[in-house]
Amino acid sequence: MSLDDKKRRKFIKQMTGLGVLGLASGAGIYFAPDLKASTLRLRPPGAVEEDQFLKLCIKCGQCLQVCPYDAIELEDIEGGASVGMAYIDPEKRGCYLCEAFPCMLACPSGALNHEHDNIKYVEMGVAYLANVDGCLALHNKKVPDSAIDKIYNHTKVLTASQKKNRDANLRGDEKEKVKLQKQLLLKLDKSRGKPCTICADMCPYPTPSDAIGMIKKDGGLIPEIREACVGCGACVELCPTQVLKIIPAQTYASVYKKGKK
Ligand code: SF4
Ligand code: SF4
Ligand code: SF4
Repeated sequence: MSLDDKKRRKFIKQMTGLGVLGLASGAGIYFAPDLKASTLRLRPPGAVEEDQFLKLCIKCGQCLQVCPYDAIELEDIEGGASVGMAYIDPEKRGCYLCEAFPCMLACPSGALNHEHDNIKYVEMGVAYLANVDGCLALHNKKVPDSAIDKIYNHTKVLTASQKKNRDANLRGDEKEKVKLQKQLLLKLDKSRGKPCTICADMCPYPTPSDAIGMIKKDGGLIPEIREACVGCGACVELCPTQVLKIIPAQTYASVYKKGKK
């Protein structure tokens, strides 16, 4: 059985167990599962398969310390078998696919495979539309300021006054980490008051339109998840209306191509 076959079986088992509804359409598959019911965590890029990851991650937090976007957390006491291990909660902060993947290179145990420090090997998961009707673009609605303010509020490198004043202006001598997070906010600021296409505009994949694009639907637009999506979760964090979610440890091929047969 190929790796893809194994992953597909695992996914179908997982989703069937959750009573997931999958609906094939010209734009891919719309799923309506409650991802929180899934037992799989989204792991940092380069993570080996989950059963191996659980054996190899030594809970050292090295990946977390070098992540310039504060994307990685360590599982708290409720994490069961994976307590203390590294994961990403894309609803709080996605991964922004740093070019050199410092998280992978910092991992001393092999839980994040150093040899995968290239975007072509990254397979964190795959995005899907969990709530199509909630998409602002479908209803030709603009991005509310409150949605962008929310991202300011959870950006850890900002001071309290910078959060309050929505001040992401770059200063001369800032550390690389601060600079990167501020650049993200400055880019996001360009969406204020405009029709929403944040997910497609902010996708950090090197050629974003290979991973996500906006397509026409019912007089508006909706995002279409495409073959290159690696499940980084940036779109999940930034979407103002929680339209998108990630299926961890799956690929576009294992999920979408099956639905198009
Ligand atoms: S690729 Fe960068 S943003 Fe993503 S988890 Fe690793 S260090 Fe953090
Ligand atoms: S970020 Fe994307 S999915 Fe979310 S409301 Fe905007 S266009 Fe729709
Ligand atoms: S569409 Fe882009 S931002 Fe969203 S999960 Fe995929 S690669 Fe990441």
